[in-house]
Amino acid sequence: MTTPNAVLSNLGAIDAAHHIHPFSDMKKLNAAGTRIIQRGEGSHIFDNHGKKYLDAFAGLWCVNIGYGRREIADAVFAQMNELPYYNCFFGTTTPPTTLLAEKIVAHAGPNINHVFFTNSGSEATDTWFRMARVYWAHLGKPTKTMVIGRRNGYHGSTVAGASLGGMKYMHEQGALPIEGIHHIGQPYWYAEGGDLTPAEFGLKVARELEAKIDELGEDNVAAFVAEPIQGAGGVIVPPETYWPEIKRICAARNILLVADEVICGFGRTGSWFGHQHFGFEPDLAPVAKGLSSGYLPVGGVLVSDRVAKVITSTDFNHGYTYSGHPVCAVAAIENLRILEEEKLVERVRDDIGPYFAKSWSSLLDHDMIGEAQSVGLMGGLQMAFDKKTRQRFEKPDDVGTWVRNKCIEAGLIMRATGDRMLASPPLIITHEEVDFMTSTLRTALDAAW
Ligand code: PLP
Repeated sequence: MTTPNAVLSNLGAIDAAHHIHPFSDMKKLNAAGTRIIQRGEGSHIFDNHGKKYLDAFAGLWCVNIGYGRREIADAVFAQMNELPYYNCFFGTTTPPTTLLAEKIVAHAGPNINHVFFTNSGSEATDTWFRMARVYWAHLGKPTKTMVIGRRNGYHGSTVAGASLGGMKYMHEQGALPIEGIHHIGQPYWYAEGGDLTPAEFGLKVARELEAKIDELGEDNVAAFVAEPIQGAGGVIVPPETYWPEIKRICAARNILLVADEVICGFGRTGSWFGHQHFGFEPDLAPVAKGLSSGYLPVGGVLVSDRVAKVITSTDFNHGYTYSGHPVCAVAAIENLRILEEEKLVERVRDDIGPYFAKSWSSLLDHDMIGEAQSVGLMGGLQMAFDKKTRQRFEKPDDVGTWVRNKCIEAGLIMRATGDRMLASPPLIITHEEVDFMTSTLRTALDAAW
């Protein structure tokens, strides 16, 4: 839709009067005025004044194929005309829904062959949470209901999602977490590793899972959930000892392992899924974002044969009106076709990912940068007051926000989580655009220090 100029010039006022934004401090927002994004092309977005930004965050970690792909719009238009909606309840499906399920599992491991569709990552979280409980109940273990997540993890904004996530500022609103959800630590070596090596620290935090299962009782725990790489928590890449130990513990204690692939899925790490990068197979894996590159809302849960065997032998009383929506499914199919045919996942693994890593870590020579972590096109840059001692800034949020705003002024969209700068650009980002990202960030850091 092209908004007429007369309406556009008044949009800020209309927005302030009527629109409550997600995750926004509305008082500050109303004072500063809303940024209005009007158009996107490739890795760039344009605001209502025509200002161009390199979107090094792919919207919200999702526009993997970049903006402006006409093929998706055309496929969506055709499907809208053919069948704009039908549901998948009570034993029905539509052709795109079923074909999308087949296309997704083709990229998962040999033991993952089923998908349950949702509209978002949060709904996917609620879905696997219920599935895990139904799974154990049907195996005659109805007490296995508790789920363990991680401090600083993010799994969405529904009541279950916000509870499973470990964001304190979300728990403080709405009396969360709900009963039966527990948390262990995060593998954030830079901030919490003390004198341990990263490898030692990775083992230590993984073993918190074992201790928590002991505390709660193995017969009461259904599952453990974590993002392969913690995203919203700061792009925290775990030490290499971490995932093998988690995998060992989940198997030894007979609890389901849930890999939240909402960010890591569909090429972001240079593998189709983040768990493949770390060499393990989950029992359940929520997905969303990169599944449709954000062109339309679609998510789902990848279900391993172990769990699917039970769920498909029951009447699973769960679903959303738009689960498997045919138009969203078509957008996702077209998105996956582009990822496959343009070999974008391989590009992240072999070309742009390594280039990004080199460029990102070139910032390590800056006085303010203590650590540069990245896997594929997902990067976390740690700012530090004193990088020799890993001393943090007194007000980490203020530092991050300042640097982020400086980047935005210069036409670069990045995100800050506390004192970590995060990048997650479209998988089509060029070498020159990566250079622009790093040099703009360096200029902002120079101005801050
Ligand atoms: N899980 C992870 C790891 C996420 O990063 C997010 C969103 O950022 C979600 C779940 C929730 O997804 P959605 O915002 O689509 O509900």
